[in-house]
Amino acid sequence: MSLVGKVVIVTGASSGIGAATAEAFAKEGAKVVLIGRNEANLKATEAACKAVNNKAKLLLIAADVTVDAERIINTTIDHFGQLDVLVNNAGIFEIGNILDVDVDQYDRIFNTNVRSVFLLTKFAAPHLISSKGNIVNVSSVSSLRSNRGMSTYCSAKAALDQLTRCIALDLAPQNVRVNSVNPGVIVTGIHRSLGSSPAELDEFYVRSKEMHPLGRVGEPKEVAHAIIFLASDSTRFITGASMPIDGGRHAFSSF
Ligand code: NDP
Repeated sequence: MSLVGKVVIVTGASSGIGAATAEAFAKEGAKVVLIGRNEANLKATEAACKAVNNKAKLLLIAADVTVDAERIINTTIDHFGQLDVLVNNAGIFEIGNILDVDVDQYDRIFNTNVRSVFLLTKFAAPHLISSKGNIVNVSSVSSLRSNRGMSTYCSAKAALDQLTRCIALDLAPQNVRVNSVNPGVIVTGIHRSLGSSPAELDEFYVRSKEMHPLGRVGEPKEVAHAIIFLASDSTRFITGASMPIDGGRHAFSSF
């Protein structure tokens, strides 16, 4: 599919990978629906989209994906009349050993990173069938590799990969494709949300380089480019795939 004029929802467009993805779709001439809770950050992404394409058609919806899935899809259809691509990117990251974490963390992580994707997909599916559109989920290399202290996040992302494959099978007869990208460590706000000091964060990124065979961490736009690729017509025979965007980290087992 050429992305010109296509209607694309990007959840978590107010920061990091989602912001870079919204900008990349706007540059391609898509009509982009920006979803996030932080309105000031959504406006910053809107400005970035306009900077790369001053004719970009954008719709900002301040919304929480855990409670507003139906409103997000209905508002998009009311405004643009169609939906071609759903990018389920919004996500949160928390850590903790099983001896310390409580079930609230499990519920938060699964509600945001899995349940909201299920709901958005369910409400979007009839419209994607009409447009023969597609879905790109933002999973993680953490679905493929296990980490100490990350049971809730790793298992939620593994569930997201299965959701990707199962829904790809459900919707294949209607020619709707469903894929995921699985990033390694990408420099965004998500690691700051753990409350680390700037020095600790720097140290984390330095250490992370060693886990990625290409010897560095990634940038949001490198994930955005892969999302554009999977959403476009050039990959119209790809569905149910999970594509690592991780400098080879998924292939590396001894760190
Ligand atoms: P950021 O923290 O920079 O961005 C997260 C985005 O998700 C924000 O726009 C935030 O918006 C949004 N979001 C979170 N919860 C909700 C909610 N309940 N409702 C609506 N929006 C929400 O992180 P990244 O860009 O790094 O993360 C994007 C995705 O990439 C996530 O799914 C993450 O798991 C995945 N990922 C990231 C990696 C990395 O190293 N950065 C590695 C692998 C995967 P707001 O606060 O405005 O609501």
